[in-house]
Amino acid sequence: MGENGLRVAFIGLGNMGGPMAVNLVKAGHDVVGVDLSEDAREAFRAAGGRVSTSAAEAVRDVQAVVTMLPAGKHVRSVYTGENGILAHAPKGTLFIDSSTIDVDSSRDVAKAAAEAGMDMVDAPVSGGIVGAANGTLTFMVGGPDSAFERAKPFLEIMGASIVHAGDAGAGQAAKICNNMLLGISMIGTCEAFVLAEKLGLDPQKLYDISSKSSGQCWSLTSYCPIPGPVPTSPANNDYKPGFAAPMMLKDLLLAKEAADSSGANTPMGEEAARLYEEFSRNGGENADFSGIIHLLRKTR
Ligand code: NAD
Repeated sequence: MGENGLRVAFIGLGNMGGPMAVNLVKAGHDVVGVDLSEDAREAFRAAGGRVSTSAAEAVRDVQAVVTMLPAGKHVRSVYTGENGILAHAPKGTLFIDSSTIDVDSSRDVAKAAAEAGMDMVDAPVSGGIVGAANGTLTFMVGGPDSAFERAKPFLEIMGASIVHAGDAGAGQAAKICNNMLLGISMIGTCEAFVLAEKLGLDPQKLYDISSKSSGQCWSLTSYCPIPGPVPTSPANNDYKPGFAAPMMLKDLLLAKEAADSSGANTPMGEEAARLYEEFSRNGGENADFSGIIHLLRKTR
């Protein structure tokens, strides 16, 4: 442990949480990692972390807790209730939830944290597994100023861009809007490549042109859905996630839920949700979200 190292628990060592937790270790913090999966725990141990199978045990003597879990129900169950971490961490502990979850769950858990005398922020991320590994994630943060200031030094280790979006839940709202845009832009990028293939246009030529034209977007130049142009994109690794298609579907459904309850008109977001639903049921269950190009090649 480094001179300025703090005791931190990291719960959820998956595709994103694993490398994020490793970056906290590298920065000198004393991190205990928790995950239901033995493989995830072993990978973290091999990278220099301590591990535990019990979240309640792991948070007993920490100063900060980071959670990176799949959905709202996991966050609610890990935080609240008799075995929840809010009941077992020392008063005044800082909680950072970086999972992407619905705004209501996020606000409910933040309220429970405040009632338990804790500081908490929601801090969902964008940037994918490459950003997680390189410590270049974007964090969208919701919560009081004081909690944001405490969270910032941790977020700066795991990310390159930290934005305080507003009160509790504002980070999740920003994330849902961003990912609706990403889902739509990935489908648009795939459609352009599918059309290019049909027209006999070399996909590399389309990439060379669009990456420097008005069609340029992150889905094209950072996460290209065909193998070749961007060597780090999952398309070069048989469309292994990455960011799994069911996770994208989850975010699009969160956006739809939020649009319905707020009265926003999001027809492209709804169509993107429909296509990701179809892909997640037909071959995309374990694929990266850019693999939706396979579905678009098939359907007409
Ligand atoms: P993942 O499924 O790889 O990891 C989640 C981990 O949480 C798993 O290892 C699982 O075993 C663990 N877990 C579940 N319930 C648990 C519990 N009760 N106690 C301890 N561990 C538990 O998912 P991921 O890709 O790392 O994504 C995590 C979150 O980050 C999601 O909300 C996702 O939407 C969001 N996100 C993912 C990406 C990406 O590119 N993968 C990008 C941005 C945001």
